[in-house]
Amino acid sequence: MRSFKKILIPIDLADESSWSDALPTAIDQAKHSGGELFLVTVVPEEPPQLAWLPEDYSAKMIAHAKPKLAKLVESHVPTDIETTQYVRQGSIYREIVELATELDIDLIVIASHRPELKDYLLGPNAARVVRHADCPVLVIR
Ligand code: ADP
Repeated sequence: MRSFKKILIPIDLADESSWSDALPTAIDQAKHSGGELFLVTVVPEEPPQLAWLPEDYSAKMIAHAKPKLAKLVESHVPTDIETTQYVRQGSIYREIVELATELDIDLIVIASHRPELKDYLLGPNAARVVRHADCPVLVIR
């Protein structure tokens, strides 16, 4: 039997629906298994055609993401659940999948897509995470 103790939740800080259902579900699962949570947000890579961006653009994006993620944890995750936060940069799905492998994650909990994109069954990142992850993936619709 599988026990989902190490749970990863990918968060799009620009989109509340990426965590509004997924995070409570992951919290419930962590309580059930006595597990811990890992939250990750990925700052996208700068497209090469935007080479005119200021040099410190990426560093600023990362510096901006960290407190936003911390605030989300503070207001939505009970303090008795061990929670670790990551801000990574790169290809969104690849960073999620690689982090899951690095951390030996048991379960990824991910929202399927933004609600306004109803024609999508599965967003591009969610689809790739499902396809490439080594561990089970719970897709929240
Ligand atoms: P959509 O284009 O509808 O947002 P995605 O596949 O990109 O579809 O998003 C589905 C899920 O992928 C989000 O709910 C979130 O869990 C994850 N995701 C998307 N963007 C990011 C990001 N920048 N960092 C971390 N996770 C993300």
